[in-house]
Amino acid sequence: MAKIINLAELDIKKAGEAIRSGQFSAHDLTEAYLEKISTRNADLNAYLEVFTDALAQADEVDRKIKAGELSGPLAGIPMAIKDNILIAGRICSSASKMLTTYHATYDATVIAKLKQGGVIFLGRTNMDEFAMGGSTENSAYGPTKNPHDLSRVSGGSSGGSASAVGGDLALVALGTDTGGSIRQPASYCGAVGLKPTYSAVSRYGAMAMASSLDQIGPIAKTIDDAELIFKTIRGQDKFDSTSTDDLATSKIPAKFKIGVPYDLLGAGVTEEVRKNFDETVELLKKQGHEIFPIEMPNLHYSLACYYILMPAEASTNLARFDGVRYGCHVDGQDMIEDYFLSRGAGFGQEVKRRIMLGTYVLSAGYYDAYYGKADALRRLIAEDYRKAFAKVDVLITPTAPSVAFPLGQNTSDPLQMYLEDIFTVPVNLAGVPALSVPTGKNGTGLPFGLQITGPHWSEDLLFALGREIVR
Ligand code: GLN
Repeated sequence: MAKIINLAELDIKKAGEAIRSGQFSAHDLTEAYLEKISTRNADLNAYLEVFTDALAQADEVDRKIKAGELSGPLAGIPMAIKDNILIAGRICSSASKMLTTYHATYDATVIAKLKQGGVIFLGRTNMDEFAMGGSTENSAYGPTKNPHDLSRVSGGSSGGSASAVGGDLALVALGTDTGGSIRQPASYCGAVGLKPTYSAVSRYGAMAMASSLDQIGPIAKTIDDAELIFKTIRGQDKFDSTSTDDLATSKIPAKFKIGVPYDLLGAGVTEEVRKNFDETVELLKKQGHEIFPIEMPNLHYSLACYYILMPAEASTNLARFDGVRYGCHVDGQDMIEDYFLSRGAGFGQEVKRRIMLGTYVLSAGYYDAYYGKADALRRLIAEDYRKAFAKVDVLITPTAPSVAFPLGQNTSDPLQMYLEDIFTVPVNLAGVPALSVPTGKNGTGLPFGLQITGPHWSEDLLFALGREIVR
């Protein structure tokens, strides 16, 4: 008989203490999650695969804990991993038909670190194909549903990870974030999500979407849990030359100076999101923090800039999927036709759209007009942040302009889908960190999220202020 464990009440700290004190074992806890997954995943489609050796992993961890070989805070913690982060020997598909049968040949650096800590990997989670999307409806394996309302999206692209954490199908999860893919789904599913400072976490073993924007980060139930995972996975790695240890510790002010780019909060933001945001502002004022309206004139161009740079980088990164070395292969008359047919069959519509867009903006004659301009604009956007952080400690906005929207609402209108990223995308362009924290629910039980953004390496500030805001 499996032990009855109340998963809804658990966080990493409580679970870790219970495991170490012998209240329950890693095996018991893993079994409880597997049971929950078996009753709930058919509805949510959060996991693309549940690992059949999860209990064996747990038994090994239990043995090591008993033998005194493992004692850290992550020993025996069941975790879900987004399907674009490599775990040696396991399938990693980026939710694409292109890679249905691709088996990872090595561990991503983040995975190696988590393994060392004694994490149990429950399975790989659904996502928008190659992380392109904001609703997980672009998965080749069907959409992931929101655990708070099955008729609504989980957000994306790390929708499976967020839905798993929000629905208690995992204690914590990893996602990747190129333009909001950790923060927006975390917000939609009532979880905490961190997009770390660019270069804080090694990208080695994460399938590249847009390499100058991608970061791996945690989706968790509490800020403490997100912080613990972040501190476990960060750090310089010889396999990612952009990664660094240069983590300045920020002095945490007793009272924060908080900037709000009100210009960005205009049209497109739903009334209820605005109201929830204004309530947070009032709460912060009551706590003695100071609020400053901030002008960031170039942020309006973020989406235009992102939707040039990101597809340019993505089209380059995805050139490797040619149907020869791995994954989907369709035979044609000759090699060129092989490429056409394999890529035609393997990639979904959104991925093709972005490859075409990216190839176009990089092509001779258009490079300067599009890519060059967007790259220059990116610098101006980063400059807006630099200037803002000369005046305030952090910035706040809603994480997304609406709560989780109904499935299918934006699928035929890519532009509308892209507009969802208005608050999250500029953060990646500037390379700064941002944390999404839950700030209550609307009348129908759908979560709101607030995004706190800070200067490079200010994760500690984000966690500190987040603890005062979360509700
Ligand atoms: N929704 C954004 C997009 O479609 C963000 C994706 C991401 O962060 N991976 O590009």
